[in-house]
Amino acid sequence: MNAQSLPKLFDFEKMVQKNVNGNGMTGMDILSVDQFDREHLAYIFSRAHEMRELVERVGACDLLKGYILACLFYEPSTRTSASFIAAMERLGGSVIPITQGVQFSSVSKGESLPDTIRTLEQYSDVIVLRHPEIGSAKLAADYAAVPVINAGDGAGEHPTQALLDLFTIQEELGHLEGLKIAMVGDLRYGRTVHSLTRLLMQYEDVSLRFVSPDTLRLPMTLMNEVIDRGVKVRETPDVADVIENADVLYVTRIQKERFTDPKQYEEVKDCFEITPELMARAKEKMVVMHPLPRVGEIHYRVDDDPRAAYFRQVKNGMYVRMALLAAVLGKA
Ligand code: ASP
Repeated sequence: MNAQSLPKLFDFEKMVQKNVNGNGMTGMDILSVDQFDREHLAYIFSRAHEMRELVERVGACDLLKGYILACLFYEPSTRTSASFIAAMERLGGSVIPITQGVQFSSVSKGESLPDTIRTLEQYSDVIVLRHPEIGSAKLAADYAAVPVINAGDGAGEHPTQALLDLFTIQEELGHLEGLKIAMVGDLRYGRTVHSLTRLLMQYEDVSLRFVSPDTLRLPMTLMNEVIDRGVKVRETPDVADVIENADVLYVTRIQKERFTDPKQYEEVKDCFEITPELMARAKEKMVVMHPLPRVGEIHYRVDDDPRAAYFRQVKNGMYVRMALLAAVLGKA
């Protein structure tokens, strides 16, 4: 079913027409959350709302019909790649999915990232890139004429995840100001934490609690940025110290693949578990989030708690990515 078959119910094409090129994002690369001010965020979130309405009412439309997305993943991914593919297809576009077996392709023959990008842009209108090196998305964008979207550059950033995280907080709690947000887990290598922290700094009266083992604390440069912005900060190794006051518990896995010393990973791998017993001490109105995959940080028994928002967060990701794809292609 598409939007055109139900014009009276949901005139999506007409709705988005009024916004065409009105967003200043047409052709834009999405490399870092630093590109987004509050006005951009509000814009993206309202488009994401429309995408939710579209999907709930009619499932898909033809907004990006004829457009092709190249999805190039040099690191494993389930959620992010599926989310971008679903987003593109729900808007009527097509995808070149290079998400498995990059090792069998020309990339493994020693082709440089710029050459791969310059090849793929011959076929596509937008490129989504995940790569293990910090700065790789910027490098790709320097060579590509089509928009490049960073889907994770090593331990650097994961801007679209942070946008969907922030959207989820707004959807769940209704506002973004004055919140107490606890980030739990691998704050050193967890790129989603880095990106979300940067976005949250823009909101008034936000307090951040960073909960990690000593070896996995937030990088000093980012911590200094947070403090310079006047954000209230607290660090602790114990989640029990923050659970009672938190409005958001943002839990992350320990990023095994980033450790050079396996012994160091073994020392910290089981350092947290959010359990129903711990949740019993949390506020009635709060949310537990996780960028997923979880590997033991949140007990499965927490899943039935209405405050567990991590699977709703996944769905929000698709809406936000629909909004972003439409925006950079000049269609939202
Ligand atoms: N899926 C997220 C990422 O790609 C979180 C994770 O892998 O732990 O960064």
